[in-house]
Amino acid sequence: MSNAPTNASAANIIDGKALSETVRNSLRSRIAVAGRPVRLDALLVGDDRAAGIYAMNQASTCAEVGIEYVLHRLPAGASADDIAGRVLLLNVDDAVRALMVHLPLPDGVDTERIQSLISPDKDVEGVNPANIGNVVYGRRSLVPCTALATLEMIESTGIQLRGKRCVVVGASNIVGKPIAVLLMRTEATVHSTNKFTPELPALCRTCDVVIAACGVPQLLKADWIKPGAVVIDVGINRIDGPDGKKITVGDVDFAAVRGVAGWISPVPGGVGPMTVAMLLRNVVDAALR
Ligand code: NAD
Repeated sequence: MSNAPTNASAANIIDGKALSETVRNSLRSRIAVAGRPVRLDALLVGDDRAAGIYAMNQASTCAEVGIEYVLHRLPAGASADDIAGRVLLLNVDDAVRALMVHLPLPDGVDTERIQSLISPDKDVEGVNPANIGNVVYGRRSLVPCTALATLEMIESTGIQLRGKRCVVVGASNIVGKPIAVLLMRTEATVHSTNKFTPELPALCRTCDVVIAACGVPQLLKADWIKPGAVVIDVGINRIDGPDGKKITVGDVDFAAVRGVAGWISPVPGGVGPMTVAMLLRNVVDAALR
């Protein structure tokens, strides 16, 4: 059992569903005020079932806020050059203002190369490395949606990040690193950590903001957390529940950490729905620029 000091009361919950609904409402208003059509173009290659379902869900999510959704398809046998060629055509099409490529791409296709071909101004998932480079330089940029979601959720607590100590557990190109870069932009002091970081629990315990994005179920325990800290759980892991059925958990031991943290985001219902809302916001930003 953990000896960590605990809060007298449980942490405040950062409700990703409620926050995402607020974002969606403001997007509906922006689209109505702009009086111009807003559209997301997506490229789906092959017949991966999960990607197909995701694309269908995305179409209805877009429709709910008034965004038109155009799905471009290529067959499973499409070569890397076919896919690259389609992306380049969409880049130069003036009707296309917001573009994303569904994953996975067929075996043998270099996903990062395809992503780096998406025009940075249309790259609503922020997967072209040029976009994260723009963030580093403080320029206007389309930022990866999970990183944006994480920042929005931290800021929803009212914490002033300048001068605060933050740790990001996990440093992947698409999740952990962009979160660390966005936090640096607020003039927080940011520790970017990975599976080789020594004495990680002790480091986390010194931090006012802890972001878990490592993909290890319930890794962060109560004695990793400074009392009152803001804890954002980006992880999405499927594990066996107590009755043998699969359940979804994050990278934080929610039940235990909730007694120590000041604020905590749940999984599910935390970063996930906000990530979807941030994609929609990037689409509106790109379309109405
Ligand atoms: P990844 O496997 O690409 O990267 C994991 C990172 O965590 C690496 O930097 C690795 O060094 C680090 N790490 C692994 N084990 C660690 C340990 N024991 N201690 C410290 N660091 C460790 O994963 P990813 O794609 O960045 O995803 C991370 C998590 O975020 C996963 O659970 C994933 O499902 C989730 N995710 C959520 C969203 C969302 O919208 N909520 C989006 C993308 C990913």
